[in-house]
Amino acid sequence: MVKDSPELRKAIETVQPMIVKISLQMGQSLELYDALIKMQQNERTWEALDKEQQRIVEKTIQGMKLSGVAFGLEGEGNAEKRKRFNEIQERKAQLSLKFSNNVQDATKAYAKIITDKTELEGCPESLIKGMAKHAQSRGHGDGDADLGPWAITLDAPTLVPFIMNCKNRDLREAVYRANIKKASDGDRDNEPIINEILSLREEEAAMLGFSSFGALSLSKKMASNVDTAKEVLNRLYEATLPAAKQELNELTEFAKNQLNHPTPLRPWDTAFVGEEFRKDRFKYSADQISEYLVFPRVMDTLFEVAKDSFGIHVSEVDSAEQKRAGITAWNKDVKVYKVQDDGLDKTLLAYFYGDFYSRSEEKKSGAWMDVCVTRMKDPSTGKVRVPIAYMICNQPPPMSDSEPSRMKFQDVTTLFHEFGHCLQHMLTTVDYPQASGIKGVEWDFVEVASQFMENFAYEPQWLDRMARHYKTDEPMPQDMKKTVMQSRECLAGLAMMRQLHFATLDLELHTNYKPRNQDSTATESIFDVDRRMAQKTCLVPPIPEDRFLCSFSHIFGGGYAAGYYSYKYSELYSADAYAALEEQDSIESRQRVGRKYRDTVLAYGGATDPKQVWREFRGRDGVQVDALLRHSGLQSATA
Ligand SMILES: [Zn+2]
Repeated sequence: MVKDSPELRKAIETVQPMIVKISLQMGQSLELYDALIKMQQNERTWEALDKEQQRIVEKTIQGMKLSGVAFGLEGEGNAEKRKRFNEIQERKAQLSLKFSNNVQDATKAYAKIITDKTELEGCPESLIKGMAKHAQSRGHGDGDADLGPWAITLDAPTLVPFIMNCKNRDLREAVYRANIKKASDGDRDNEPIINEILSLREEEAAMLGFSSFGALSLSKKMASNVDTAKEVLNRLYEATLPAAKQELNELTEFAKNQLNHPTPLRPWDTAFVGEEFRKDRFKYSADQISEYLVFPRVMDTLFEVAKDSFGIHVSEVDSAEQKRAGITAWNKDVKVYKVQDDGLDKTLLAYFYGDFYSRSEEKKSGAWMDVCVTRMKDPSTGKVRVPIAYMICNQPPPMSDSEPSRMKFQDVTTLFHEFGHCLQHMLTTVDYPQASGIKGVEWDFVEVASQFMENFAYEPQWLDRMARHYKTDEPMPQDMKKTVMQSRECLAGLAMMRQLHFATLDLELHTNYKPRNQDSTATESIFDVDRRMAQKTCLVPPIPEDRFLCSFSHIFGGGYAAGYYSYKYSELYSADAYAALEEQDSIESRQRVGRKYRDTVLAYGGATDPKQVWREFRGRDGVQVDALLRHSGLQSATA
């Protein structure tokens, strides 16, 4: 994902079936399954396990059931079923990989070359510079930002600021349309792939005795069933709808009266008008704000937040030390960090790699963390192997050697988010690798640790610390700071609706929809489902040609199938968790809550039931919706 090449793709395609095969073999091992069941049934062996081990056994048994272990038992037709089940797994893995590669290739293949700079009016200078570089790397011109030509591309660091800022409505529409039908025709058409994936998931769920793939997916999660997930989404929908409607009205009025912009607003207008609206309300654009957000200082601040709140010390491992330790990274810009307890003995807790800059030619877009090494204690020696995490972002690289990378505020919250995932992986105290760090954490609880961290970026104290002008070193002006702090409240209703749309669409496709395949009589296509759901959640109607599903990698290329709701579900918990800090009135008590958070949510990993983790940290069951609505400025909408 950070070093794409034809050779690596070939290697992955070669080993992937073997990986699927061996994980199925492990998941379907009757010897292992029988041993675990016996362990569970024998009171003596069971009581000899600690609580964490018991949960690992229970989760393993559940996982093996979902891996089709039962098809290995003697019984009529079981051998057939096992063969089919395994075929499904292998095919699903192939299709997901193909899906992701299609999206990546289609993204790379598109470039709209612009030769007249006036067409790009409104685009910030940093974007124009980047677009000249894109044109150059595609064989047009020599990268001169003033003379051009410029290339508009579909990778997020270009597409997002372009759609937000470019005044040329026709050009915005053309690029929007290209993006919305990405990977939906020719050799890279993902529609048949999606239908096949959905059919296979449905078949797999039926074989395992579930009414739908959604029901299967939810059985492994904290929410436990589809109805609970839907109920949470619906609660947020009801609370948000009035605000979202009002926001769209305001935007439309603003477009008409202030911008002389045609209405009704179309999908390629909302981001642009929204950004103008923001600039008008707050007087600052995202680009102007980015002049105060310099990468090294933001990182330092993030580490200070971690020190202050959780009592850990993060430092960069310099190249000499890397060499001594035999560490080699995959790119010269990749940094290595070490995490120590901030106590007297400075115990080494973890390491992580940071790969921060966008490299569209070989790196997938977006931001994520992943596991390199999981913490474990060797049972015979008692020695601890410390965890190592990968942290991957896609922010703009430095423009030159003398100018550091400047971040959009959104890049900052993304950085805090991914670091939150890393913290959960790195600060675990669990000794068993099956459940230490993020291993085994329920999918809809795992975003709590990440979204929790985002909140710090909005705190005046930390904003003061991180924001200084990249040239003059002056602190961020007071009113700009206010802009940043209020930014998540601005148009929050519409943003929430967008997420609710993805989440409800995902659940619908995986519970009620019958996919179109050869022997199906389905009258609805996947795009029809998208449009049907949009009637409720998209206040600006999507265009008939919208084929966004073909690049919805979360649910077809990644692990979020019947799980996209997790973001909002987790956010309820993360906001409510952060409220525990906000409720404190002294630095000491805040720090106490921060340590408690480290000792529960960040420490327990997947070894404790999330409901119990929550109870221990928050001191109560259940989650309250107020904090999330308050953080998003949506509270008044419910009153
Ligand atoms: Zn995340």
